[in-house]
Amino acid sequence: MADALTVLRHKADNAGWLDSAASCQLQDVHGLYQQRAGLLLYPDSTEVVSEIMAFCYQHELAVVPQSGNTGYVGGAMPTSDKQVVLSLQKMNKLLDVHAANNTMLVDAGCRLAQVQSQAAAHNRLFPLGLSVADSCLIGGNLASNAGGTSVLRYGNARDLVLGLEVVLANGRILEQLQTVRKDNSGYDLKQLFLGSEGTLGIITKAVLKLFPRPQSQVTALLGFTQLQQIVDLRDDLSEQCGESLVACEYWQQRCVQQALRYNANLQQPLVDIYPHYLLVELNSTLKCDLTSLLQQIAPQLNCEHIAITEHVSTIKNWWQLRATFPKAQRQLWTHLGSGLKHDIALSVEQIPEFLVTMKSRLLEQFEHLDIAVFGHLGDGNLHYNIGTMQSLSASEKQQINHLVYDQVMSMGGSFSAEHGIGQAKRSLLTRYKSPIAVALMRTLKQCLDPKQLLNPGKVL
Ligand SMILES: Cc1cc2nc3c(=O)[nH]c(=O)nc-3n(C[C@H](O)[C@H](O)[C@H](O)COP(=O)(O)OP(=O)(O)OC[C@H]3O[C@@H](n4cnc5c(N)ncnc54)[C@H](O)[C@@H]3O)c2cc1C
Repeated sequence: MADALTVLRHKADNAGWLDSAASCQLQDVHGLYQQRAGLLLYPDSTEVVSEIMAFCYQHELAVVPQSGNTGYVGGAMPTSDKQVVLSLQKMNKLLDVHAANNTMLVDAGCRLAQVQSQAAAHNRLFPLGLSVADSCLIGGNLASNAGGTSVLRYGNARDLVLGLEVVLANGRILEQLQTVRKDNSGYDLKQLFLGSEGTLGIITKAVLKLFPRPQSQVTALLGFTQLQQIVDLRDDLSEQCGESLVACEYWQQRCVQQALRYNANLQQPLVDIYPHYLLVELNSTLKCDLTSLLQQIAPQLNCEHIAITEHVSTIKNWWQLRATFPKAQRQLWTHLGSGLKHDIALSVEQIPEFLVTMKSRLLEQFEHLDIAVFGHLGDGNLHYNIGTMQSLSASEKQQINHLVYDQVMSMGGSFSAEHGIGQAKRSLLTRYKSPIAVALMRTLKQCLDPKQLLNPGKVL
């Protein structure tokens, strides 16, 4: 008798859930994970997802939900060639915009950029800000509780959701597509699935929150020399600009150097070179003069230089530079599998101390490290990236990773700020998370996925 995977393949072939052009040999966008899947399916409706899940549950086939596959932790990649990868790409309808209620109903497979532009077409804003908006899908954003550049003002992905539809491991459909802003009628079940990285259910639809579109905007780039200035700058900008402060991105000059080397069309962001930069964006839903506001407070800000602009080309160059850092580091440090990345969070006032202590601890033990840090400073999220010009052994890499994460955790921070756990950080979960928290997570997993078929080898 044919095995369950073969039966499912025939079923899928007849029903049109396969894409003849797609190969089951998969690779994530960073080139860090390669794996063959047993089957790659493209359902086009919640009912089809439900049918597939019910079949897989009955026949004990593992299922890996996949959206844009842009995640950094290998969460959307299968871990064996017996697993079924369920791509949400064909479930891509923007179903309804309710502008008066500031909500939008979408299929999980809509691209983030599509959601953003549909909101703009209705004079609204969907504020999730990721440089990969053209490639990632909203279901993947919600399942990984993505962060990005606007968290300071609008929160993480989980803060932008009112309702969800989820297909459970056994194929049953949990439909909770509320559009109301108040609902205390029992446990808030959607929160279980937001940030669960496909291990508790498949998100098939969502009701998203929309916001008024900004009417005024200004961008500034600040150059400064001393790490301690980070704290003053963040405090002063928050105090003086209040709600208008939307983005506050930190970069080191080393990142700029790497980006300019990678893309010769980019320009040095300021006339002079500074060791540290802050890219600041203010906006307001009122028609007001934010440029004057920044100009007024500029002399009191503790930085050596501030360039304030409303010119689209300058703003584009600054943001493009920022978006180039990951690609430039990947190219420079390919021999390390794109470098040792640490997506960490600390409270902002601890960041200078962390950066100084960490660098000296690392260089004490490993002389030739290339450290290039950028991050969403506004919310205390740093991408602490380390490369070398020569290879490192597996134990050296682990030693470096533990040095960084031990330091972060000793300061009360997080070892995964916005990228999640996936397959990359599983061992860190048991190393750093409280045993009670891990036990509760296992209980929830057991309850929602008793046969352990949803995205096995991820998170837990
Ligand atoms: C250049 C670059 C910049 C980035 N910048 C940021 C950033 O600023 N902030 C940030 O947070 N991330 C960032 N990322 C990481 C990544 O883009 C985000 O995590 C994004 O939200 C992932 O979306 P995706 O559609 O690619 O999901 P995938 O990578 O396909 O999936 C992510 C996880 O969710 C699960 N999943 C996917 N779809 C579903 C579904 N419908 N139901 C249930 N589970 C599902 C997968 O199994 C996987 O575990 C960046 C990535 C790149 C390449």
